[in-house]
Amino acid sequence: FELYYQPQLDLSSGKVIGVEALIRWNRPGHGVVAPGHFIGAAEDSGLIRPLGRWVLREACRQAAQWRTAGWTGLKVAVNLSAVQFRHQSIRWDVFDALEESQLPAECLELELTESLLLADDGGVSSTLSSWKEAGIQLAIDDFGTGYSSLSYLKRLAIDKLKIDRSFVSNLLEDEQDRYIVRAILQMAHSLKISTVAEGIEHPQIGEQLAQLGCNSGQGYLYAKPLPAAEFMAWLREQKFTPLTGQP
Ligand code: C2E
Ligand code: MG
Ligand code: MG
Repeated sequence: FELYYQPQLDLSSGKVIGVEALIRWNRPGHGVVAPGHFIGAAEDSGLIRPLGRWVLREACRQAAQWRTAGWTGLKVAVNLSAVQFRHQSIRWDVFDALEESQLPAECLELELTESLLLADDGGVSSTLSSWKEAGIQLAIDDFGTGYSSLSYLKRLAIDKLKIDRSFVSNLLEDEQDRYIVRAILQMAHSLKISTVAEGIEHPQIGEQLAQLGCNSGQGYLYAKPLPAAEFMAWLREQKFTPLTGQP
């Protein structure tokens, strides 16, 4: 297994504010396998536990190493699936990864899904609160595609909404998508929750999102998910400087 990293950029300054860690399986004889092909099986078999623990440790280790190299502005975002919350150990897996890597909690962002928050029996909230208290950031992934119960935004002090690619990709042609994105942005802005748009592939979409007030963006337009070394090479190629993260 290997983690690939995709940058998130501030849409008004162009600054790189963070990276999302995305798992890949270098399967002998099959090349690089995307998570859509194996995360489900890992969840069904229980392998998601050790795998998820490895992802957390590796992402924190890598982010801490980049910090040491001077990239102090880079947050790392890690995806957690609802199944990973079936075991209480997830709470400690996160804290262990931070402690082992010495990465400051503020530099770790956890991407949650709406289904997780809907299924909450109290155990999830208590785990999330303990992370929040420690300074870890919480983001809702694929926002708008799940059950969008909005009460958790307030209750759990969510830091960031990731607007799903399905609303972003046709933003220029599809008026309804534009209304939805605008409504999400207005709500997030009023609740002081930051926003990131997923799946930006065209410059005009990035511009439109910036105009609508979206804080940051992620997508093939800027960079595909890349192995750690290639991601660093991309940063240098863009002439981002380590200390400010600015071009
Ligand atoms: P996600 O968290 O919503 O990640 C975004 C997906 O969109 C990634 O697919 C990324 O490669 C892709 N993407 C980014 N920009 C663009 C774009 O401009 N155009 C298009 N067409 N696609 C774009 P990927 O890497 O295949 O990951 C798929 C899903 O697998 C993720 O969706 C996430 O839910 C899950 N996943 C990935 N890594 C992990 C992990 O370590 N743990 C868990 N539990 N789930 C993971
Ligand atoms: Mg994600
Ligand atoms: Mg997503």
